[in-house]
Amino acid sequence: MVQTHALDISKIRRDFPILKRDVASGVPLVYLDNAATSQRPVQVIAELTRFYRDHNANIHRGVHTLSVESTELYEGVREKVRAFINAPEAREVIFTSGTTASINLVAHGWGRKFLSAGDEVVISEIEHHSNIVPWQMLRDSLGIELKYIPMLPDGTLDMDAARELIGPRTKLLSVTAMSNALGSIVPVAELSALAKAQGAVVVVDAAQHAPHMPLDVQALGADFVAFSSHKMLGPTGVGVLWGRMELLEAMDPFMGGGDMILSVTMEQSTWADVPSKFEAGTPNIGGVVGFGAALDYLSAIGMHNVRAHELEITDYALRRLADVPGVTIFGPERAEDRGGVVSFELERIHPHDVGQVLDSYGVAIRAGHHCAQPVMAALKVPATARASFYIYNTRDEVDALASALESTNRMFGGAS
Ligand code: PLP
Repeated sequence: MVQTHALDISKIRRDFPILKRDVASGVPLVYLDNAATSQRPVQVIAELTRFYRDHNANIHRGVHTLSVESTELYEGVREKVRAFINAPEAREVIFTSGTTASINLVAHGWGRKFLSAGDEVVISEIEHHSNIVPWQMLRDSLGIELKYIPMLPDGTLDMDAARELIGPRTKLLSVTAMSNALGSIVPVAELSALAKAQGAVVVVDAAQHAPHMPLDVQALGADFVAFSSHKMLGPTGVGVLWGRMELLEAMDPFMGGGDMILSVTMEQSTWADVPSKFEAGTPNIGGVVGFGAALDYLSAIGMHNVRAHELEITDYALRRLADVPGVTIFGPERAEDRGGVVSFELERIHPHDVGQVLDSYGVAIRAGHHCAQPVMAALKVPATARASFYIYNTRDEVDALASALESTNRMFGGAS
C-alpha cells in the first residue's frame, strides 16, 4: 500500500493567485471546472516569465548562448516528462500542442501507414470527441471499421462486450483512461491485455488521468499515451504523445517542415530521428518550459497524494449533492471508481441555466455535452452540469456548490 499524506490546501491555494479573485457578481471565485482546464500556480507563471525574460531564443539550430540555454531548458522537460510517466526513454516523449494533436498524430502517422480496408479500430462510447473524430475520418478515407465498447448505465464500460469486440481483426484499440464527462475510471491495463493478445496497438487518452493520479505508461501496457499540459497546471498549447520507440521509428511524420528533416533536396527529403521527426516547425518552447515547472510542482506534492485528496473531495461531493433536492448524479456510484468529476442534472432546470445561476454565486462549473455527445445520447440527456476538482479545492467549496444549487431550486421553483 502506498502511503499518502494530506495536502496542505491553504498553502497550495496561496500559490494560485486567481483563486483569490472575485467574479463579476462581486463574490469570491469557486473554481470547479478543472476537467476543462486547471489553474496555474505562481511557480509556472514565474517560469514562463523567466524564460522569456532571460533565455528566449529558437532551439536546436543556434550556436549562440541563448539558443543553447533554450534548447537545454526545452530538452530538460522531455526528461521530466519521461520520469513523470515512467517511460523507458526521453526520446519517446513527443511534444505536441495537446491531447487532440497527439491522437491525430497517431491516427495520421501510424494509422494511415499501417491500417487498411477491413481492419478494425476499437474505441468506446465514453470517449471525448478528440478520440472519436480522428478515427471516423480515417474510417471514411481508408475503409476501416470503427467499433465502440458500449457504456453501462453507471458510466463504466461493458467489459463483457469488450471481450467480444476485441478480436483477430482488431488492429488498434484507443480508449480513455478516465471519462471527462462522467469521471469513470477505465480498466485500461485489462483492455490493453485483451488487445495485445490479438496483436493490436493500444492508444490511451490520458488527458484526465495524467493530471490526477500516478501515470506509469509501462504498467498500462500501452503503445501510445496522450495528454495535455493545461489540465495539469501547465500552459495551454502544449501536449505530449509518448510512444514505444519501435512504433515511433516505424511510423510516418504527420507534418513536414523545419527541424524534422535530415536532408532536403529539390527531389526529396529524409527524416530526422525520433523525436524531431514529429516536431516540425518552432514548437511552443516557452510553454514546454512552463510545463516543466508544473511537473515539478505536481511531483513535489506527489501524485498519490493528489489522488487521495481528490478521492476525499469527490466522496464528500457525491454525498453532499445527493442531499440536494432534485439532483440526479450520473456516473459510477462509488468515488473510488471515478476521478474528481461529478456530472449531474437538476430536475426540470436546464444545465445551462444551472451554470448561469451558479456563476452568480461565484461557482464556476461546466454545462453542456463536454465534447462527449455519445455519452449524452446514452444517458438520454442533452447536456449535464459538471463539477470537477483539483488539488486546491476544499469541502467548503463543495458546500458552496450545494448551497448555490439549493438557491437555484428556489429561484426556478424546482425541487425542495
Ligand atoms: N480527451 C479527454 C478525455 C479530455 O478531457 C480532453 C479535453 O477536455 C481531450 C481529450 C482534449 O484535450 P485538448 O483539448 O487539450 O487537446
